[in-house]
Amino acid sequence: MTATTTNRRLRTEIPGPASRALQQRRASAVAAGLSSVLPVYITSASGGLLTDADGNTLIDLGSGIAVTNVGHSVPAVVDRVREQAGAFTHTCFMVTPYAGYVEVCEALAELTPGDHEKRSALFNSGAEAVENAVKIARVATGRQAVVVFDHAYHGRTNLTMALTAKSVPYKHGFGPFAPEVYRVAGSYPFRDVPGLTGEQAAADAVGKIEKQIGADTVAAVVIEPIQGEGGFIEPAPGFLPALARWCADNGVVFVADEVQTGFCRTGDWFASDHEGVVPDLVATAKGIAAGLPLAAVTGRAELLDAVPTGGLGGTYSGNPIACAAALGAIETMRTENLAAAARRIGDTVLPRLRALATETGVIGDVRGRGAMLAAEFVEPGTTNPDAALAQRVAAACHAAGVIVLTCGTYGNVVRLLPPLSLPAELLDEGLTVLAEAIRQEATR
Ligand code: PMP
Repeated sequence: MTATTTNRRLRTEIPGPASRALQQRRASAVAAGLSSVLPVYITSASGGLLTDADGNTLIDLGSGIAVTNVGHSVPAVVDRVREQAGAFTHTCFMVTPYAGYVEVCEALAELTPGDHEKRSALFNSGAEAVENAVKIARVATGRQAVVVFDHAYHGRTNLTMALTAKSVPYKHGFGPFAPEVYRVAGSYPFRDVPGLTGEQAAADAVGKIEKQIGADTVAAVVIEPIQGEGGFIEPAPGFLPALARWCADNGVVFVADEVQTGFCRTGDWFASDHEGVVPDLVATAKGIAAGLPLAAVTGRAELLDAVPTGGLGGTYSGNPIACAAALGAIETMRTENLAAAARRIGDTVLPRLRALATETGVIGDVRGRGAMLAAEFVEPGTTNPDAALAQRVAAACHAAGVIVLTCGTYGNVVRLLPPLSLPAELLDEGLTVLAEAIRQEATR
């Protein structure tokens, strides 16, 4: 049993000798196409700290890409997982069902935006959820076209690669891609024409859809309410509501990809809640089950029920252990009010990042909501992306035992996705390390 550690503690350089030895073994066993942000090999995690094979303890400001929102191995999840694994691990919901699946769908109906009649279907990954949302929208509308946005990320399956914007590394060489996918500009306040409102950006998108695709051929508009991998891009106020209204007026299914933004991450249960947007379908994954593979499509009963019996499913989809984990995670989010915890994290982080932007001149934009926060690095006095600086800042944090991630179409965004339960002292310490890294690398 590893003793519980409550502090960042570096015993070796990062990565240390044990991690480096594993990295060497990995090179001859694991496909080169899989990358790791920081090749320290983790042996345990708790309370916002990861412990590696060398006994180093690192502050986790990434949550395994917005997954362990409730924290690592919290009792409500672990106990339910243990109990479920002891009872049975799999029957296949399509063969002989079990209550956990139904309970997760009931919880999703309650928690997702809107009080209309809802149904859910469970899957294994975010990509699978988004792909199934498109399947459902196509069957329900009898239309084929799907509209997505610049900077979008929706996954790595063939259809979701087509929906994703960035070529390298996600798409390059992997074509041909699925047809009937159309991309339009969204809303990126830092890089749009200054003063462009959300309503105007939506009108531009709608104009392009109507002229170049034809409203009556569009099955779905698929959008991340805050774009994740594309750079933590929060659209201008009014953009999402205007788009949702246009969809409703034109019989187009509005699909919110809340895979990264969902489950209290942005300070609401879902990012769509912020402006009162009620999506027709919501795709979720990541934070739903604290790391066990689970994903869902939740939405209007008439849409999900339009798919004939047998049209949705999968061997592992809605696995009973993953459902048990989801029920534990959701219970934790409720009892610990993790949406409020996320807002407190934002209230702490945003002013500090803004002060660093003023002090150093290398951060062009600080943005985000709740515990989904980012700094976009630029050449001082310009909006020219400085990806090299963002990468150096991340590397300096890693060397000091703080896990931050980068993202962005231009690779110049450092993003923070701490567990929502991260103790205030660890958040403070992580931010101090980040600030030092920015100061040090900005002047290099
Ligand atoms: N949609 C969004 C918004 C995501 O951030 C991700 C993962 N980063 C996905 C879809 C794909 O999820 P998964 O990796 O679980 O397939």
